[in-house]
Amino acid sequence: MIIKTPDERAAIIEGGRRLGAVLEELAKVVKPGMSTMELDVLSEKLIRDGGDVPAFKGYTPEGVSYPYPATLCISVNDEVVHGIPKDDVRLREGDIVSLDLGLIHEGLVLDSALTVAVGQTDKQSYALMDATQQSLEAAIKAARPGRRIGDISHATERAFNGTGFAVVKILGGHGVGRHVHEEPFISNVGHPGTGPEIVAGMVLALEPIANIGKASVRLMPDDYTFRTYDGSRSAHFEHTILIEDDETIVVTRRPSEVF
Ligand code: MG
Ligand code: MG
Repeated sequence: MIIKTPDERAAIIEGGRRLGAVLEELAKVVKPGMSTMELDVLSEKLIRDGGDVPAFKGYTPEGVSYPYPATLCISVNDEVVHGIPKDDVRLREGDIVSLDLGLIHEGLVLDSALTVAVGQTDKQSYALMDATQQSLEAAIKAARPGRRIGDISHATERAFNGTGFAVVKILGGHGVGRHVHEEPFISNVGHPGTGPEIVAGMVLALEPIANIGKASVRLMPDDYTFRTYDGSRSAHFEHTILIEDDETIVVTRRPSEVF
C-alpha cells in the first residue's frame, strides 16, 4: 500500500509497535519442552488483548488449497518458513525457531519475524541468525525513495558474502498494509538499479531467509511448510518498514532491539 493520510500513517506505526511488542514477548517465553501450539495460543491472545486481529489466520495464499489454520508461523531448525503450530511438536534445548507473525490494526496489516535459540544453541546457528539479522539491516538501509526494489534485493544478498551461508532465492519480501501479500515481490537476490522505483508512502515487508547448507528448499505436503532440501538449519528475520521522504521507519522494531 501507499500511505496517503496522517491517520493511515499513525495506524501503521501503532500497529507495528504492537506487533514488535508481541513478538518480543513471544521470544522471551520460548523454552525447552514447550509445544509450538502453546506459542500460537499465546500469540493470538496477546494480539486480541490489544484489540487487534491475527492477519494470517484464515488467509489463503495464492496457489494454496486451504486457509492458514493458525495465528503464528513457527519454523524449527530445518523448517524454513510457514511451519504450522502443533500440539505434539515440542521445542528442545538447542533448537532454533523462527516466529513469523502478522496482525491487523485498524484495518492495516503488519508482518514481522525473528529467529531465536531455545535455551543455548551451537556457534554456527548463532552465526546464521546474526548474519540473517545483519542482512535485514542492510536491506532496510537500501530502502530509500528514488532507489529501486533491486537495490534492496542486492543489499540483502550481498550481506551474506563471505559468511558461507546460502540465501534462499525463491522466497522473499513483499508489499504489505492492505493485504498480507502485495506487489512488489522483493527477492532476496538481485541487481542494483532494477525493478520498481521505491516511493515515499510505500509499506514493505523485508525478510531475508538463509540456510547453513545449500539454498534449495522444498514444500511439504501440508502446502505451507518449507524445509531445507539438505536438512540444514534456516533462519528468518523480517520487519515492516514505511518509506518516507527523509527517513525509513522500521515500524515493527522491537523494544529491546538496538541498531
Ligand atoms: Mg512474515
Ligand atoms: Mg512477510
